[in-house]
Amino acid sequence: MLVTGGSRGIGAATAQLAAENGYDVCFSYRSRKQDAKAVCRAIEAAGQRALAVQADFSSAADIATLWNKAVSTFGTINVLVNNVGVLEQQKHLVDYDVIRLRRIFNVNVVGTIISCREAVRHMSTRDGGAGGVIVNLSSVAARLGASGEYVDYAASKAAVDVLTKGLAGEVAEQGIRVNAVRPGSIYTDIHADGGEPARVDRVKNGIPMKRGGQPEEIAAAILWLASDASSYVTGSILDVTGGL
Ligand code: NAP
Repeated sequence: MLVTGGSRGIGAATAQLAAENGYDVCFSYRSRKQDAKAVCRAIEAAGQRALAVQADFSSAADIATLWNKAVSTFGTINVLVNNVGVLEQQKHLVDYDVIRLRRIFNVNVVGTIISCREAVRHMSTRDGGAGGVIVNLSSVAARLGASGEYVDYAASKAAVDVLTKGLAGEVAEQGIRVNAVRPGSIYTDIHADGGEPARVDRVKNGIPMKRGGQPEEIAAAILWLASDASSYVTGSILDVTGGL
């Protein structure tokens, strides 16, 4: 399995659960090398092989290098989890600038599409690959819009939803399933990037289950979509939101 952004949060939980389910795991990180080393140790403690690769998802060259290293180490990649995603300080749209928008769309949309492209080139049975599964990380923001917080991020995640549907149709006959998970409010560091580390606790009473989610609860949904238990599921977007 190749997990992008596996050094912490949902990606780290996915890498660890994947190892517990018998996958060797390659994952990328942007800058937190020590966190990446800790995830490697957790994968190895579960008895699986681990490879951490530094890659910035605003760089198509870094994404291609990540794939080259993953394939040269593990041979075949059966599952890609496109988990890297970024947001910026909470702001109204009227105050956005182009630099902010380019940063978000470069990583969340362009980076995710390039990562899917590398996966299809590797997995497609039409080109001699073994087939496989792609799981993209969307967000409940794609449905709700994130008004007053990060409409740009929400729009980028809506693009991930449509990408998932469109690509699933393109590669369904090439042995590749493509699905997405839409997390609700999950306890990770991403909310600090938006300027509100305690955001999940602020919004939790608006969630039908009256609590935020844990990264492990998203990882469990990702592992189900990666597995043969979901063998007839493609082009689907699974809400894991506590009812939101
Ligand atoms: P997170 O805690 O902020 O972790 C982000 C991960 O991505 C880290 O491994 C980080 O590496 C890496 N990363 C960040 N920017 C990168 C870049 N430009 N290039 C390459 N790697 C980069 O995120 P998370 O909360 O686990 O979110 C994971 C995914 O779920 C994202 O797509 C997010 O949009 C989505 N999501 C999250 C929530 C939530 O409430 N947490 C809700 C809905 C959707 P370093 O550790 O090296 O910095």
